Amino acid sequence: MRLNEINGIGEKTEKIFYRAGIEKVEDLLTYYPRYYDTFEEPVLVRNLECDRTQAIYATVVRNVEVKRIRNLQIITGYLRDSEGYALRAVWFNSAYLKGKLHIGDTFVFRGFVKESRGGFEISQPKIYGIREYNKKMGEMQPVYSLVSGMTNNIVQKAIKQAFNLTEPTENIPKSVKEKFNLIDKSVAIKAIHYPKNYEDMQLARNRLIFDEFFYFIITLRNLKEKNDITVNENKLEEPKEITDLINNLPFKLTNAQLRTWNEIKEDIASDRVMNRLVQGDVGSGKTILAVLLVLTAALNGKQGAIMAPTEVLARQHFEFVTELIIKNNLNLNVAILVGSLTAKEKRLAYEKIESGETDIVIGTHAVIQDKVHFKDLAVAVTDEQHRFGVRQREMISEKGNHPHIMVMSATPIPRTLAIIMYGDLDISVIDELPAGRKPIANCVVGTEYRPKAYNFIEKQVDSGRQVYIICPTVEYSEAVEGENVIEYSEKLNKILHPGIKIEYLHGRMKPSEKNEIMGRFARNEIQVLVSTTVVEVGVNVPNATVMMVENAERFGLAQLHQLRGRVGRGQYQSYCIFINGSGKKDAEKRLEILNKSNDGFFIANEDLKLRGPGDFFGVRQSGDFEFKLGDIMNDADVLKDAAMAVDLVEKGKLPVSDEEKKILKDIQCNSINI
Ligand code: ADP
Ligand code: MG
Repeated sequence: MRLNEINGIGEKTEKIFYRAGIEKVEDLLTYYPRYYDTFEEPVLVRNLECDRTQAIYATVVRNVEVKRIRNLQIITGYLRDSEGYALRAVWFNSAYLKGKLHIGDTFVFRGFVKESRGGFEISQPKIYGIREYNKKMGEMQPVYSLVSGMTNNIVQKAIKQAFNLTEPTENIPKSVKEKFNLIDKSVAIKAIHYPKNYEDMQLARNRLIFDEFFYFIITLRNLKEKNDITVNENKLEEPKEITDLINNLPFKLTNAQLRTWNEIKEDIASDRVMNRLVQGDVGSGKTILAVLLVLTAALNGKQGAIMAPTEVLARQHFEFVTELIIKNNLNLNVAILVGSLTAKEKRLAYEKIESGETDIVIGTHAVIQDKVHFKDLAVAVTDEQHRFGVRQREMISEKGNHPHIMVMSATPIPRTLAIIMYGDLDISVIDELPAGRKPIANCVVGTEYRPKAYNFIEKQVDSGRQVYIICPTVEYSEAVEGENVIEYSEKLNKILHPGIKIEYLHGRMKPSEKNEIMGRFARNEIQVLVSTTVVEVGVNVPNATVMMVENAERFGLAQLHQLRGRVGRGQYQSYCIFINGSGKKDAEKRLEILNKSNDGFFIANEDLKLRGPGDFFGVRQSGDFEFKLGDIMNDADVLKDAAMAVDLVEKGKLPVSDEEKKILKDIQCNSINI
């Protein structure tokens, strides 16, 4: 049903909604709230806390003051609470308030409280009558993600109407619902938008997460069935050049790497096509295995491709492969295929890939574009698999003549969950780091530690090393607390001594800018790189020895572990400084897990133990399996239930009617980005 069926949505608003991914009326129902605003008990002035949204019950004691600064009209209200303590309220461009706020009137004012000119100031508070506020107090108001031009109010109104126009269909068999105590789909969807209370919302959330996982697992099972019967049309033997190349490497492969390489070799020579996940902690040396595999394909006269999630990473792999080919005098052509190539460069690359002149392609998503036709693709590797979806895995396997698929992941998830999440793949684990690595020294500290940290950073740079500093956001925003890359690097420029070159990096920069900055960092032309988590994935600069993470409490442990993996990649002792910007004890407890161990799998398991129910507005833990609501770590119990449910249905232990079977078949996992 088209969006313009909804009152108040015309062509213009429709376009805005499209940008938020809402294309039809039905999509509104699954546009779940990001969180809920709860109306807290009003407090007294002496109990106010700065830099938080609070409600205060106060009386107007003077007429409002109106000032004008250029286009901006500033209205100041003077208020007192029941104990006689004063505070100010400030609004912008809200002239109508003059008629609303009379001396002696008492209201509830709810807004962001700041300290200003020695007193408290509440900024742009909403004004409620006392009875009106009391009624709201227990309620949970849904807050939605917005794109520019959208307001929470518009979304709320649209969703209200959508419920009158369409109804969600039940998509889980009745027997499963009963067995796992799930509420109805339509009840759940209603309650996720308008929960009566916390428990109500929990039940709804539980049900909807179950759906996401259930259908994810069903999709995987279907894939596995397909894989299991796919005949290997690209039987590959290890050429002699590979043995020589391994012997010529500047390092000795670890036992875990050798074991995995043997598993891969067995797969590609067998009767069935390979579908293998190589899971190994950051720095365990997965890249070389991907490279050995594509070289093997190329030396067998076929083609190989490696797909990485970022251009920076793709270029790094490209350089690594090129170097190996030159060093070992191999007569092979490697091409890079990334978004920032010019149209002409791309066209040329497509031609060479199609004609077979290119033996190995390394790139980003650009590799699976429709325009790319391989002559004889025999192996396809995706690095940092969690950044790609199952869908993309399928797309690449459709590119050639049933190529062997290898996916690599450093997301340390406990084995019990890995078996569920990668149900269609065989798993190799690289559970050993190269010898001679010095364990990273960690600390979890408060913001008061910063001066010491900066001192330490200067010393490291003076001795030739480099530093990453991670901030959670790109630029200042009132809505999000925490340090931002742009202001932080400005600040740092004033603090660190002038000989130190500082630059910043974030995901909103153009790929060419990002490449340029990463390139300069790799060549040590930049010593301190202030960045968002874009450096999280796989980047390799062995000279970098310090990773400092601001607002570490805002990140999942898996993500922090990935970030930490950017250092400790060379011969130098490396350090990781996690700054707990919240000062909160529970955040510290969680971060301490990182302090205890450098082993990603241990961390993931501990993290899983620490989680209690209701932790879910916090950070996502699992890296990047992009479910709408579910998080495989936070919601591990639901995930296990869903896996069990799929098992029971497949084994016929839970009855499914013909009609239900049809629904199961039809589900395309549309709502889930897998
Ligand atoms: P990841 O598993 O995180 O992708 P990489 O493949 O990027 O790790 O390897 C990290 C670093 O370790 C690279 O500089 C790589 O050359 C090096 N390396 C890989 N295998 C070994 C080994 N067996 N011994 C020593 N260094 C190795
Ligand atoms: Mg890697």
